[in-house]
Amino acid sequence: MARTPIIAGNWKMNLDHLEATHLVQKLAWTLTDLKHDYSAVEVVVVPPFTDIRSVQTLVESDELSIAYGAQDVSTHDSGAYTGEVSTAMLTKLGCSYVVVGHSERREYHGETNELVGEKAKKVLDAGMRPIMCCGEPLEVRKAGTHVEYVLDQINAMLAGLSAAEVAKSVIAYEPIWAIGTGEVATSQDAQEVCGAIRVRIAELFDQATADAVRIQYGGSVKSSNAAELMAQPDIDGALVGGASLKVDEFAKIVTYQQA
Ligand code: PEP
Repeated sequence: MARTPIIAGNWKMNLDHLEATHLVQKLAWTLTDLKHDYSAVEVVVVPPFTDIRSVQTLVESDELSIAYGAQDVSTHDSGAYTGEVSTAMLTKLGCSYVVVGHSERREYHGETNELVGEKAKKVLDAGMRPIMCCGEPLEVRKAGTHVEYVLDQINAMLAGLSAAEVAKSVIAYEPIWAIGTGEVATSQDAQEVCGAIRVRIAELFDQATADAVRIQYGGSVKSSNAAELMAQPDIDGALVGGASLKVDEFAKIVTYQQA
């Protein structure tokens, strides 16, 4: 089954709303210059909450084909949850995707696989698609138990989802030791885990679901390594951190097929 590759830029806590507008505008122009085919490779930006309204206004007024989303969401619908943002607020802003369970959320906010699964379910219930992150820390990689570790995360994160919901979701395999370190997993390392995730989804659900779900690799993706990573049979895209803040570099990653 043909899966449309998806390249998503996670800006983390960078860029204010004016800078966000600038970046998206420049990204759209650059991709037009490069004759990017959005139906061949989907492009998503994931700004901080405070930028989303500005990105929405630009995308809608200029009829851009760039999709956008949020970096996190609450499991609550509304009420006394200071600092949280609901799925309804994000759908109102036209978000298509929500990243859930990024390793930084797990590390700094104690998010568990179960909570990540709950967030993914809320996102799907609201008609958006979750980008569900998983990945092992360095000590697990060194111990050689990384596949088992990630599959345990997958089992727990997907426990409350139906096959149809999983098929619509995106899974981002991001080895923690490769995030923001310049240390990229080899394409074989990335394929080993992404392939194992797909097999596990076939076991938990069925082959059609496993064939439909898109699995990204994330961790120091750059234009120089994107094409090789994307050539792996079970890698359907990239979740890009640092490099997504540089328009020319991100545009080159998006257009990896032209490399
Ligand atoms: C990320 O934060 O999801 C990420 C992959 O970051 P970087 O590309 O900077 O390693």
